[in-house]
Amino acid sequence: MEVIKGIPVSHGVVIGRAFVLDDAVLHVPFRTVPQEGVPHQQQRLDEAVAQAIQELQKDRDRAAEQLGPEPAKIFEFHLGLLHDASLIDPIRQHIQRDRVTAEYAVSEAFRALTRRFREMDSEVFRQKTSDVLDLDRRVLSKLIGESEDRLARLTEPVVLVAHELTPARAASLDPKKVIGFTTDAGGRTDHASIVAAALGIPVVVGSQRVTQYVEEGDQIIVDGETGRVIIRPDRETLEHYEQDIERIGTDQLALRELASLEPVTLDGTRIMLMGNIEFPHEIESVLANGGDGVGLYRTEFLYLTSQTEPTEEDHFQAHKRSIELLDGKPLTIRTLDLGADKYTQSRAEEPERNPFLGLRSIRYCLQNLPLFKTQLRAILRASALGPIKIMFPLISTAMELRQAKMILSDTMEECQEQGIEFDQCMPVGIMIEVPSAALMASTLAREVSFFSIGTNDLIQYTLAVDRTNARVANLYSGAHPPVLQLIKAVVRVARRFKVDISLCGEIAGEVEYTMLLIGMGLRTLSLVPSQIPHVKRVIRSVDIESCERLARKVGSFDSERQVLNCLRDAVQRVIPEMDSGWSAG
Ligand code: PEP
Ligand code: MG
Repeated sequence: MEVIKGIPVSHGVVIGRAFVLDDAVLHVPFRTVPQEGVPHQQQRLDEAVAQAIQELQKDRDRAAEQLGPEPAKIFEFHLGLLHDASLIDPIRQHIQRDRVTAEYAVSEAFRALTRRFREMDSEVFRQKTSDVLDLDRRVLSKLIGESEDRLARLTEPVVLVAHELTPARAASLDPKKVIGFTTDAGGRTDHASIVAAALGIPVVVGSQRVTQYVEEGDQIIVDGETGRVIIRPDRETLEHYEQDIERIGTDQLALRELASLEPVTLDGTRIMLMGNIEFPHEIESVLANGGDGVGLYRTEFLYLTSQTEPTEEDHFQAHKRSIELLDGKPLTIRTLDLGADKYTQSRAEEPERNPFLGLRSIRYCLQNLPLFKTQLRAILRASALGPIKIMFPLISTAMELRQAKMILSDTMEECQEQGIEFDQCMPVGIMIEVPSAALMASTLAREVSFFSIGTNDLIQYTLAVDRTNARVANLYSGAHPPVLQLIKAVVRVARRFKVDISLCGEIAGEVEYTMLLIGMGLRTLSLVPSQIPHVKRVIRSVDIESCERLARKVGSFDSERQVLNCLRDAVQRVIPEMDSGWSAG
């Protein structure tokens, strides 16, 4: 039995068989297979090499036809390597001797070859390094692509184990087939994690080298409550977890009953609980969990999951569907937040060194006006059909906001000229997720009708901690006093300037923060739909005065640990059964 401690992202516990997805071309974990699996690995190697050769021959012929014989020679070098017994035979021997997977043997052999080329005295050979890497990718993609096909063909549910998932890949998982997952990399609020949480399956990320410990078909437990991943559990552990699953099931039933009750505090204050969604179909879950509407629609997922650029009509249809599903309940559409970890890297013209500080979000839109306007037109058209608010993400200067608003009003004028109906009074708001925006909230408040605090980014930019990096995940927490001070300051400004204020970062769904956020003055939270009943339970058990008292007490602390302990004690006092499953910290 192996126990690994990762970062819990999505609640629940699952026991199942491991399915290992080796999808990170540059990271192929060491994995072995049973002795009887060795011939299959050899066969996979042969097939991958044969396919790569075939593909290279085609590319060579096409290059020769289009570009002439000289450029086509590059493929001869690649083909030569794949026919070279001194490269291929050691791969075969490695599989035979150490029972490793074909992909691992291939990546090791190519890594060694790259090193040899790189260390050569001759510049000509050194330049060949990138050719070798290219070839490595070509062969590996045959082997790794295969695991995706296997995933699509699955008939039994599995627990997915991968080095890392992209948000788009996470979005394409079918929760009927994938009943839980865990990854080596990742942070609590990276977008693959957020999407996975929306699937409602237990998820643990940042499990370091889980892909190295697990073998395909191993029994595995993913404990989304504590962040533990247990590989090949012993009988005692298994029994313990089976009981846990039963207990969680009973708790879920009790929580489901809360869906029809209002999120009202003991002293009668109504809190609005909205859902965060990536796709319109998630609205069903928002409503089933008793949500009041959608407080954050992350529209960029329309881009991430399609092969081609979505058209105005694609956007419009998605919004129309959302409005229909919401049946009069409000919908806040956030304009594109592409970039950072939400890149289709193929769309990034030039890979960025610090993508979180780079051309992402509103910055990307302001430099790609046709794309931005396409989306704005679709939102405007949809605003004629139901209550929509529009929200700009990652505003970091007043100028940016003014530019975005100017483009919106240009688009409105165009629509008007073309006789397109839209809501002339559609509320325009911004996300406060960069410290600069929080610090100049009083300037920004004069120009918008609402703020939504995005703590996922606000935490990372305030503390200089990459939200996707498992290695610094212990430093990433909303309970750090400077983060709380910024939230408090923004809420105060919003009240003073009478702009609506909500909070839509993941902490809105973490029960240990509920009392604090209410105590700081927030009355609208937007969260992952499955957490709505959990937060509602806390709201219905507290009164405003005790929340305010807690906020004042926490405001005097100078360490994250003190804050978190105090928050946990407080919620445990009102709901004693909440003794495990803390997601934060
Ligand atoms: C945030 O940053 O808190 C937020 C809600 O936006 P996203 O997670 O999509 O970056
Ligand atoms: Mg954000």
